[in-house]
Amino acid sequence: MKSMSSTDIQRIFAAQRSRALKLRTSTAEDRIATLERLRAAIEAREDEVLAACFADFKKPEPEARLAELLPTYAEIKLAIGNLKSWMKPRKVRATLAMLGTRAEIRHEPRGRCLIIAPWNYPFQLSFGPLVSAIAAGNTAIIKPSELTPHVSALVAKLVGETFTEDEVAVCEGGVETSTELLSLPFDHIFFTGSPAVGRIVMAAAAKSLASVTLELGGKSPVIVDESADIKAAARHLAWGKLTNSGQTCIAPDHLYVHEAVMDPFIKALGKSVRHLYGKNEQAIKASKDYCRMVNERHFERVKGLYDDAVSRGARAVFGGDYDADEQYFAPTALVDVPAGAQIMEEEIFGPLLPILPFNDLDSVIERINAMPKPLALYIFGKDQQRIEQVTRQTSAGGMCVNHNLLQFAHENLPFGGVNHSGIGKAHGRFGFEAFSNEKPVLTQRFNAMHMLYPPYTARVRKLIEFAVRKLG
Ligand code: NAD
Repeated sequence: MKSMSSTDIQRIFAAQRSRALKLRTSTAEDRIATLERLRAAIEAREDEVLAACFADFKKPEPEARLAELLPTYAEIKLAIGNLKSWMKPRKVRATLAMLGTRAEIRHEPRGRCLIIAPWNYPFQLSFGPLVSAIAAGNTAIIKPSELTPHVSALVAKLVGETFTEDEVAVCEGGVETSTELLSLPFDHIFFTGSPAVGRIVMAAAAKSLASVTLELGGKSPVIVDESADIKAAARHLAWGKLTNSGQTCIAPDHLYVHEAVMDPFIKALGKSVRHLYGKNEQAIKASKDYCRMVNERHFERVKGLYDDAVSRGARAVFGGDYDADEQYFAPTALVDVPAGAQIMEEEIFGPLLPILPFNDLDSVIERINAMPKPLALYIFGKDQQRIEQVTRQTSAGGMCVNHNLLQFAHENLPFGGVNHSGIGKAHGRFGFEAFSNEKPVLTQRFNAMHMLYPPYTARVRKLIEFAVRKLG
């Protein structure tokens, strides 16, 4: 992959300055026209998107349609349909102390924005944030992931053919390009990737005090309560875990299954996996619907987690097969995983699923709360009291009850993490807000604040005391 030179990066960044200033006065119609241009450009290249996703890690075409194209189109549609109302200044009522003023909140564009994307949903996680950046009236530079070079090249081509570089530009490259970009004083940085790199991004943003949205990852736990519909839970979890071969930020990472339903659940899970991908190991490997680890390094990382767990006494109840030449790792469920195993320490980001039995919900909640706050938390069950207990006693970026992944697809919900799993929210109105500065504008009409100005004579002091008592 050809990385963009430092001179080009500097040139583009400088060019985006005057465009960003002009965009401050852009209307909803202007921005909608830009979003329509983007939608037409994607529609014209759908086949190229699907082919690039397949070329990078054999992402199945239907999955690329569902998880790359659909969310991007949905973001565009929602923004186009709602932009006028999102942009409308919001009048706020005067408080008693502010009687005689008029006040409103305006959403002003942040300015020059940087979008750094990961490889796992390389198209959608470049263009989804771009939609919000455009809707909010910003310029943007996208840095796609170098690990999915076909999609990266396509993102660069599509943007190059659709926008002038002072509006939207793509800087391809790896860590050096990212580092170079992060040295520039962007107004906002929208980063999607790992918590480790998220820290680097936030430290870089601190230099110019750029605002950040950090969409990170982590270990998203699942609780399968004894009251759950076991077959449905197994079916949904097999799908949620194995979509993109587990390389999904909100994929179920590990499962706590009530011991009363452990055996039927494991049976149902194996059956669901076979139903989704094939009757046996060979059929699963040959399935066109099951994708590969993105590269050798990630394959080795996943295999390392598996080997470490097994060497410490974990047992695969199904799966465990792999083929390094193809970067293939079979859907694998593990039991008897000891607490110290690496697989219980770091985000798995692959098709390995540790299943841990429990009989006391409090202890599961305690374990979840002892870990960094996850991006997603899932619970399957019918007992509303226990669902409510988990909802109130844990913290997570988002939750989904009796399903998984779907919370990402609901455009009217904010999407994002909390602390270790992220800062700020994305999607729809929340994405628009992330790329905007909420600017309060207060206009004086006949407010009497001047009566409290110095010199602090006895009369003014009395008035201040009165104000503290009556207005505070
Ligand atoms: P990553 O953090 O390795 O890379 C993300 C981006 O950062 C890439 O563009 C990469 O080039 C750049 N980068 C890498 N190292 C860098 C450095 N030292 N300095 C500056 N930039 C650097 O993440 P990844 O492997 O591409 O993606 C997987 C991670 O992303 C997982 O943790 C996953 O959970 C998370 N993720 C989160 C979301 C979300 O919406 N919250 C979505 C997808 C993935």
